[in-house]
Amino acid sequence: MTDIVDILNRLGIRTENHGVTTGTASWEGGGALNESFSPVDGAKIGAVRQAASEDYDRAVEAAALAFKKWRSIPAPRRGDIVRQMGDQLRERKHELGTLVSYEMGKSAQEGLGEVQEMIDICDFATGLSRQLYGLTMHSERPQHRMYEQWHPLGITGIITAFNFPVAVWSWNAMIAWVCGNVCVWKPSEKTPLTALACQQIILSVLRDNDLPEGVSCVVTGGREVGEWIAQDTRIALVSATGSIPMGRSVGEQVARRLGKSLLELGGNNAIIVTPSADLKVAIPAIVFGAVGTAGQRCTSTRRLIVHDSIFDEVKTRLISAYGQLKIGNPLDPAYHVGPLIDRHAVMQYEKAVEEIRQAGGTFAVEPGVLEGNAYASGCYVSPCIAEVENHWAMVQHETFAPILYLIRYHDVDEAIAVQNDVPQGLSSAIFTMDLRDAERFLSHTGSDCGIANVNIGTSGAEIGGAFGGEKETGGGRESGSDAWKAYMRRQTNTINYGTALPLAQGIKFEI
Ligand code: NAD
Repeated sequence: MTDIVDILNRLGIRTENHGVTTGTASWEGGGALNESFSPVDGAKIGAVRQAASEDYDRAVEAAALAFKKWRSIPAPRRGDIVRQMGDQLRERKHELGTLVSYEMGKSAQEGLGEVQEMIDICDFATGLSRQLYGLTMHSERPQHRMYEQWHPLGITGIITAFNFPVAVWSWNAMIAWVCGNVCVWKPSEKTPLTALACQQIILSVLRDNDLPEGVSCVVTGGREVGEWIAQDTRIALVSATGSIPMGRSVGEQVARRLGKSLLELGGNNAIIVTPSADLKVAIPAIVFGAVGTAGQRCTSTRRLIVHDSIFDEVKTRLISAYGQLKIGNPLDPAYHVGPLIDRHAVMQYEKAVEEIRQAGGTFAVEPGVLEGNAYASGCYVSPCIAEVENHWAMVQHETFAPILYLIRYHDVDEAIAVQNDVPQGLSSAIFTMDLRDAERFLSHTGSDCGIANVNIGTSGAEIGGAFGGEKETGGGRESGSDAWKAYMRRQTNTINYGTALPLAQGIKFEI
């Protein structure tokens, strides 16, 4: 624990009664105290006071004021500020990565990887700040010029989930900032300390550059604070990452006020393994996808659709691989699988296990909740594999835990139909050496997901591509490619540099 206290101090966080940190200052918010416990060992890490509605309002007012200054700064200069944020994150990578692991429960490697992802998006956003391109069109009218510009939107509200407590915020914030927006971030109530640590880093850069702190506001709290953001007409864009019920609620509330929303919701990701698959590559990808982050990635592999001819071999190899998994303290590199986020998540895992048994499913690798000193937090579970049918209710639903569903198929059309036959559409993959199967899977009649991979698993996306999914996953795209367009408003401009007034479509109007 001493190490964590030291790390918190080095990140500028006091370990008791943290105030609500917003753009203008740090102060004690008026809401209840939210204690943060580590799922690693059950110890209390700290307590964060949640924002009351007055605190929220002060943060949004500070953001609105800061927007007036921030939008006037040229985009490449904003990019340079984001570059400095990336430099600060490089310097604090070890401390921040360790805090992410300890507060969320992911492995030390994944905690560091999450901070690396933040650094990468800073680099990407810095380059992007010189590439916010609009098109020029040829006007049908003589001596007219037509082009489009991209302008900032205003305040971006960012609601994030516990499982990527800081990376997903950075995907949004860094891009929003180079686009000229300011941000109000509501982190998960399960991981408030990592958010406050990031806020300290960002505020130090803003202060060094004599910029208003309202460019970056954090309002801590639960669902209620997220609802304030969704309903607030001052928030131009609401980017919300989390479960499908959360997205449905946020999407409806933002739509009611005709605002813009960007939704990144749950997945139900499958891997298809064809007879020609290279199992040396496929098996580790399946295991990492299913048990990495204890099955708590939105892109975790939940379903494995295996050809009948290799079903038994794949099953045997998976049983052997699962037999080698070591479950324990994620900060110790000796272990492959850490804890679930909290006991509620363990209950959800147990509920799914019970439903599988009741439906007649069988376990190739048995489930269980681990007990003993090493598992004192009560959050450690055994990754398991169940043989099921795709249409069963629990298979159609995302359980955020290391449960892998094994399903058999006979031809590739059937495999693709099964893969698509769920309400969600985030990530998908096929393992095959057959060009026809691969191309069929990637074609418009193949996978219906936002992410479709060949010979790599469903999880572990890079920041350069647009990230997100279809159907109940919400349709939003974040991070790379042209995802930045969601953070700006497009304006079409037509300029007449002639002496006449020709009308479009040749319409005549004379006075
Ligand atoms: P969650 O939906 O419980 O909470 C996510 C965030 O939304 C939290 O900050 C929470 O306080 C807030 N919230 C909850 N209900 C709300 C409401 N009605 N209005 C406004 N805000 C509300 O999700 P979680 O348990 O933190 O995270 C796990 C889920 O997130 C999984 O479903 C996972 O697949 C999904 N996820 C998706 C992506 C993606 O990019 N598609 C990334 C990470 C996580």
